[in-house]
Parts: sequence; C-alpha cells; structure tokens
Amino acid sequence: MFIPKSSNFVVHSAVVYGHKHRSITNSRVNNFLDDGQWKDVNIQAVLYDLRVSGSPHINLEVWSAPGQDRPTFEHAVKQKFRPTHQGESFGPSWTTHWFHVTVQIPKEFAGKPVQFLFDSNSEAMIWSADGEPLQGITGGGGDERHVDYLLTRKATDNEGIREFYVEMAANDLFGNGDYHQHPQDRAIYYNLSTVELVAPNLDAWALYHDLEVIVEMAGRLPQDSARSWQALKAANAMVNVFDHRNIDTIAPAREIAEQFFSVNGAHTRHQVYAIGNCHIDTAWLWPFAETKRKSARSWATQLQLMDQYPEYKFAASQAQQFEWLKQNYPGLFARIQDKAKSGQFIPIGATWVEMDCNLPSGESLARQFLLGQQFYQEHFDETCKVFWLPDTFGYSSQLPQIYFFTQKLSWNNINRFPNTTFRHCRPGELIDSEHNHKDIVYTNESMLLYGNGDGGGGPLKAMLERLRRMADTDGLPRVKNAHPNEFYEHVEKTATELVSWKGELYFELHRGTYTSQSNNKRNNRQAEFLMRDVELLNTVAKASSFGLYDYPMEAIRKLWKQVCLNQFHDVLPGSAIGMVYRDSDKIYNEIFTIGDALRKRATDFLYGDVVAKAPEDMSAVLLVNTAAWMRTDIIAVPELPLSLLSKAGANVQIRRKDGAPLVLATNVCGNRAQLLDPAQTTEFHSSPVKVYQEGDDFVLENTMVKVTIGHNGRVKSFIDIREDRELVPEGAQGNVFELYDDVPLYWDAWDIEIYNLEKYQSLPGTDITMVDKGPLVASLIVRVPIGDTSVLVQTITLTAISPRLEFDCHIGWHENRKCLKVSFTWDIHSDVATYETQFGVVQRPTHRNTSWDMAKFEVCGHKFADLSEYGYGVALLNDCKYGYSTLENTMTLTLLRSPKAPDENCDMGPHVFRYAVFPHKGTFAESTVVKEAYNFNVPLLHLPANADRFSMKGGMAGAAHPYFSLSNAPNVVLDTVKAAEDGSSSFVVRMYEAYGGHAKALLTTALPAMKAEIVNILEGHVSDLEWLPHSKSTAIKFKPFEIVTVKFSI
Ligand SMILES: [Zn+2]
Repeated sequence: MFIPKSSNFVVHSAVVYGHKHRSITNSRVNNFLDDGQWKDVNIQAVLYDLRVSGSPHINLEVWSAPGQDRPTFEHAVKQKFRPTHQGESFGPSWTTHWFHVTVQIPKEFAGKPVQFLFDSNSEAMIWSADGEPLQGITGGGGDERHVDYLLTRKATDNEGIREFYVEMAANDLFGNGDYHQHPQDRAIYYNLSTVELVAPNLDAWALYHDLEVIVEMAGRLPQDSARSWQALKAANAMVNVFDHRNIDTIAPAREIAEQFFSVNGAHTRHQVYAIGNCHIDTAWLWPFAETKRKSARSWATQLQLMDQYPEYKFAASQAQQFEWLKQNYPGLFARIQDKAKSGQFIPIGATWVEMDCNLPSGESLARQFLLGQQFYQEHFDETCKVFWLPDTFGYSSQLPQIYFFTQKLSWNNINRFPNTTFRHCRPGELIDSEHNHKDIVYTNESMLLYGNGDGGGGPLKAMLERLRRMADTDGLPRVKNAHPNEFYEHVEKTATELVSWKGELYFELHRGTYTSQSNNKRNNRQAEFLMRDVELLNTVAKASSFGLYDYPMEAIRKLWKQVCLNQFHDVLPGSAIGMVYRDSDKIYNEIFTIGDALRKRATDFLYGDVVAKAPEDMSAVLLVNTAAWMRTDIIAVPELPLSLLSKAGANVQIRRKDGAPLVLATNVCGNRAQLLDPAQTTEFHSSPVKVYQEGDDFVLENTMVKVTIGHNGRVKSFIDIREDRELVPEGAQGNVFELYDDVPLYWDAWDIEIYNLEKYQSLPGTDITMVDKGPLVASLIVRVPIGDTSVLVQTITLTAISPRLEFDCHIGWHENRKCLKVSFTWDIHSDVATYETQFGVVQRPTHRNTSWDMAKFEVCGHKFADLSEYGYGVALLNDCKYGYSTLENTMTLTLLRSPKAPDENCDMGPHVFRYAVFPHKGTFAESTVVKEAYNFNVPLLHLPANADRFSMKGGMAGAAHPYFSLSNAPNVVLDTVKAAEDGSSSFVVRMYEAYGGHAKALLTTALPAMKAEIVNILEGHVSDLEWLPHSKSTAIKFKPFEIVTVKFSI
C-alpha cells in the first residue's frame, strides 16, 4: 500500500479496486496520461503553466531558398526576409526556408523556464544569431516529435529581445511522405502549425515520466507477478492523489512513485547496457545533401542532452558523416570532439559508411575499415574497437569479427537466427530484451540501443527521464548507460561459453537487393576494377622511379571515399529513392573521369617513350596486363592503322558490329607490359573458330568445344570435345530466359519472394543470324522480345582460344514488377554450388531439404557461381550481376527487376551486361575459375606503340621481369597493390587464398625493395618476413581464405 506522507487526500481502498477490476484500473491510469479526450482534467492539464503566440511576443520573418538549394547560414541571413506567421504552409518538397525569429518573453513568465515551440511538421534546425547550430527539430506527431527549444531555465521580469534563426527543410524524418505509394519528388507543402512560447511545469513533467514508466510496467510485466500488481496499485494511488486544479498535489503523487522505484531486486537480475544511438541512413528516402543536415540536427540535439544529463552516453557511426560535419559545421564538430574526450559522445563503427556487406569487393570492405579508422584516429585519437552494423542486408564471412554487433538478423523471414544481442527505451523493451535474449544461459547481459533512427533524431529527453527511473527497480532488468566496449569487454570476461556460429550469417530477406538498380551495381563493379588499375600502375610508377613520380595519394583517397560512400546500405543495394541514384551517377562519372586520368598519368610516365605520338607513328600495340597471371586474349584495337592491319594476316579479324580490328594477344605475362607487333607475329597457330548452320540450328565450334544453338537462341548441346562429354542433359537447355512475377510481400525494391518462382513465362528468341565468322571470333545475334515493350538483343560469341561461351546483352527494359532471369541446366550433379564472395567463396546447397536450405533460394555471388562434380564443372560468370540461384542441376542468374518503390523508375531504360559459361576439367578447387572470372571482367589494357623505341627502352616498359609475381601457389590471388598509407616510399601488396586450402607462395618483385613484413589492413606491423635479396622474393604461408597484406620497404 502506498501512502504519501504529505497527502491531504484520503485515499479510499485503491488496492481493493485494483484487485477487482484490473482492466478498468489499467484503462484509468492510461487515460490519465492521454493527450486526447480527457486532457483538460488529467496530467496534460498542468504540463504548461503559461503559453503565448504571435505578436508582440514572437515576430516571424521568412526567406525561401530557390529550387532545392541548401544554402549556408552565412548566405541565408544576408537575404531579404518577409513577414510570416503561424499557420502558413511552406514547400514544395525538398525546398529550404529560413526563419528569422524575434522573441520578447512576457513579464508573467518571470521565475519560470521558457521554451520556444516550433512545429513545421517537418525537420528543422535552430541556429544562434551568430551562426552556431543549436538543436534539431522534428515536427509532426508520433514518438519522434521533438519541437521544444529551451530559451532559459529561469526568466527574469525584464527579459530583453532574443533573436535567432530556424532553418526549415521541407521534408520529414522519412523523406517525403509514404514512399510505398508515392514518388518522392511530389510537391508536399508543410504547415507551420505551432510557434509558441511556453512555461513548462517541470514537476508536472516529472510526474508524467514517473507515471509513464509505472503504467507501462503494470501492463507489460507478467500479469500474475507481484511487481505488476504493485505497479498498477502505485499508478492508481497516484491518480487518486493528484488534482489538476491544485498543483500542490504533484509532490505527494511523486512520493508514491519514488517509493515504488526504490524497491530494488536481486543483483542476479539481467543487466542491460543502454547506449543512445541514432541510425542515420547516409541516403535513403532523402539525398546525401539532406543527410549532411540530418546528422547536424541530430547531433546538435544530443550535445544539448549531454549537458542536461551528465550520465548520458551516445554513440554515432559513419566517418563520412563526421567528415561532412567537419566541412559544413566546424563549430559543431569541435563540440563533438570535446564531448568525445569526456566520454559522452562515442564515435563508433570503424567503417567509412555503414556499407552493404553483400556486394562490395573484398578490397572495398578493407577500404571501408581503412578510411574509417584513419578518420577516427586522426580526429578522435583512437580507432574503434566495435564494428557497428545495425542495419545491413547480409554479413560477409570475411568481416573482421573482432567485435560484431547487429540487430538485423532478427528480421529473418524463414529461420529465426539463434543468437541475438539486442532489442529497442521503454519498460516493455527492457522486459523484451531479457525475454528475447537467446544467449541468456551463457551471459546475463545484453545491450539496448535506443533512440529514433533511420531518418535521424536520436534519443529524446523523455527517454533519458525514463531511463533514470528504470535504472534499478524491481521487475525490470538493471539498466545503465554504457560505452559499447564496456558491454563487449564484460561479456567476454563473464560469459561462460558463448555459442559460436559456423558459416556465413545469411540474412533471409531483401534478396532483391542483389539486383535492384542494376546500372548502379555495374558502376560499382567497374569502379572497383578501375581503382585496382589506378593504384597498381601509380605504385609501379612511384617505386620504379625511386620516388621521382609524384604518387597522387590524396586524389586516390578521395576516389576511394566516393566508391565507399556509394556502397552505403541503401544505395548500392538499390533501396533508395531516384534522387539518390542521380547523385550516385554523378559521383561515379567523377570516379571514372578522374580514375581514367590517373591511370593515364601513370602509363604516360611508365610507357610515355614507347607510346605512339600520332597514328603514323604507331607500329605496334603495347599490352599492359594488370592481372598477376599470364593471359591470352583477343582484344579490340580500334586505333590500329590500315598499314598494320594489312600486314597482320590471320592474327586480325574485323569485328562486324563496329569494324574494330580484333587482335590475338598470346601469353601476355602478368603484371608487366609487353609489345605486340601484329606484323611480326607468326601465323595464327590455333585452328580458327567456326560457325555454321545445321538445319534450323547454328553450331559454334573450336578445338575445345562444340556448341549447338537452336533457332530460339537456346543452348541445345554443349560438347566438351577434349573430354568427349555432352554437358546439356537430354531434353534440357541453356540460355533460357524466364520472366517472373515479382510482387514481394511488402518491401518492393528489397525483396524477391520464393512464391514468385511458381509463376513465370519462358521467353524464346527470334531472328537469329550469324555475325562474325572467324578466324578469331564467331558469333550469332538473337532478339528476345519481352512483354509488349521490352526487347533484349544478345550476341553469343565463341573465340578460337577458349571453351568460354559469352553472352553480350543490350536491353530496353520497361516492365512492371517483373524479374528477368536466365538459366542453364547441366548434366552435373552436386549437393552444393560454389559462389564467389569477398576474398573467397562460399558453398550453398542446391536442394531445399531443410528450411535453412530453402531460405537460400536466391543468393549473392560476385563474379561467378560454379557447379562441379567429381572430375568436371561449369562456372557461370558475369560482369555486373549478383543474384544467383542453383536448384539441383539448373543454375540461374537474375538479370533485372522492376520494383516501383521507393523509386518508381527503378531500372527503366537501357542496360548492358554480359555473362558467360566456362566449362572446366576437375572440381572447382582444381579449376582456374577465379582467374577466368577476373579476365572476363577486366580486358587487357593496350596503348598504341612504336616498336623501335620499345627495343631501346630500359626501365619498366621494357622490364624483363614482372613488377610482381606469385609462384608455387595457384590458389593464391594477388589482388591489390598500393602505396603505403604512411606516405613513405613503401608499398603494399594484398593477397588472398581463394579456394579454401593452405599454400606457401613465393612473392617476387622487380621493384626496388630491401625488406618485407606482414601488416594488417590498417597497415600496422604484424610480423617480419624473411627477405631473399638475390631473388628479391619472400615466402608467405596461407591458411584457407586467409588475407595477407605485405609491406615492402627500401
Ligand atoms: Zn539503415
């Protein structure tokens, strides 16, 4: 029984009513808090002592920025403002409006705290008159609402005039209305519904927060528990004691609350580590430009809370957002640095952005960490220990799992993932955090991230008030403000035997993100390979010239930042609005333009003497093989002059579609430049490739394979001549186009659902004709009509030098909720298929025996998927796709989707992509598929050259030895070569074991080096390597899928 000592009221048998009428009492106490029907007689009636609006208390002027400009404070305040008032609307969407606010606090507010309320039903930022961002505003209803700004804790009776500014953004936390139904560019106008001065009654607010917690505990604790009854009785007693006409009744009501909260439980209770957080999507339902303002708004608000609540700790991630803040809001950034020193503001996450983890390459993931940690070290004096990825659509098995936090796997839609570390700051959430903590047998601790997220905002005052009340009260887990490191370090020390999970953390949802926004994915793939060339060639130029060449370190770092930015988990996966892709297209254009120029700068330096100055000067082709292995290839050399062409004989073929000369480049050594003189090379040795008609069918044949293509463009037969083996089973086909219904349950751009596989149309090709007829290349062209408006035109090519059959596709795509796939059925039997992932591969089932198998009906793969049995296999390669599936012996590649939300124009229009099949002897582990897929993606580089000058040339262009070579380990791939981050003359080589075995590789370099050491991804020393000065090499041991980074120094 709760009896307030200071009560004047006689409390009649509250306990008895509570017992008899639980649900009535429960409704009563809930209604007491409600802002609805009873607000004039419940707690709501006393929350504000005074409120005024309009002139002469508040004067409002506005200036609206033109178009979608987001001007700076300095620019905005110089403009001409006009008078405005509460009630006017501002828009359209994505415009910006600056308000000049002049406030005169009336005398009757003396002695009271005063707040300025500003609700534009949109996002806004309060600025001081001298240009410091003070606090973010989130207008509108709901839990995210945050519209009060504290002007003074205690007004005097002679307040002067106050002046400040409000920057209003015509968009809300989640962009621009309901993105599932409407395009984001529509014109919404936002109403300025509240501009007021109020004097909050702080005691009444405290009572409100007390009751909020107690009422929720009454409702959420097990209904038969003693604590739930105690909560209900306490709340009921408080309502009985309180009288809205007499604010002196607040104190006795609060005493009841204090008595209730002071009952602590046993110390064996579950411990929750609470961390304030605000997940800000770097772009999603808003563009990058708005995110720059979102982080400023959110974090300004958090800094204020830190001053008011000294125990409060807040974590924010994504180095990119900090860098934007540093550029655009230097004062705010400096304040964050101060709060980081005092430990309240916790920069976290380790990576440049919270990236997607399915699609970026291994090197891209490495760069996310490198760029992120460098920023944190430079600006916050330490690197992050916790890798933070609360919201991504899959987790690479290669992620450094030092510490790993995620909540997203609890979204799985087929299997519940057995380990959780987390849930969302209300009593009910604390109860859930204990209840849903599946590792509770092993550790009695969990982490609670709280705060408004996605669109920004973060924790609000009310959450911190609740947290104080819930810290140590019986019935709830104990909860304390903490640094995430504290949580992980404590779990590590106290957990008896945490369950470990073997294999990939497969995320069973959002399988459409392997395909949506296809052109963006293609740009990502191409940018990754371009960066590889740029860094390798610039490193060679610098190292081989003993530092004469000026390595463009800052330019390269900037390009990587751009590549990493576009890998944000709503950009690269294809789940953002159209505006975001217009921005990312511009960023990719810049990457390609500057990247090409930087590559050319390096090749000019290295090979400038040999490169032909004019067409007449060209007597050969300089081939530059940036792969680490030898290649034989057929390349198009459009600039080859006629004089050379006529001498070249059978080594050259003119391509039909564009008249480009195709040239055979045989045995081009890896990591080296080599001269190809078409006139000097002896006659073509290999037998020419043939194409001919056989009845209705067409045959493509070389010395290795014979492929029969039906009149509908499908592969009817694929014979490996060397093995005397037919690869297409009786009655089956390959290159079959299928158009599926693609209507997911909810998340349009995100999801492909399993039931869609039940409903599809098979699309035959027509008008097949022969195009190129050898000797180097033979090809067919076929048209595949899709629906009424989309047409795919495909070139099918076999060369004289490889068993690889290539498919080159151009398509105009205009479908609605359809998904296009292509499939190949092979006479190969295996329970698993192999898919390329970052720096390695992953095997997944080809059957659907269990629900875990079934969930993998559409999976992510990088450049290839492979289906192999004992002795033989076939790989399906691609140059920009990521969605694969293999069911029994049918391999399928998802080519295009057509979701309509959140971008109604997603993927509409032209697309270009290529895929290929590559049959091989032996299993995948015995194959060269990894290198073949690389070669398929990256053509040999070539430059017009003068052969005479080449023979004279020493240095790198004429180098007898490759810049780098790897021997004794065909399973190891030399992936990245770059200048060392420390800016010295050192350089770094990154390799990985690609097939899942051990290796001892010998790495040799022709570049000047005296010493080699193993370093980590951040290029910190790990161990020394033995350097063999005569062979200029070092031996390195690899474990399966191990990534090894070697730093060479002089
Ligand atoms: Zn997100």
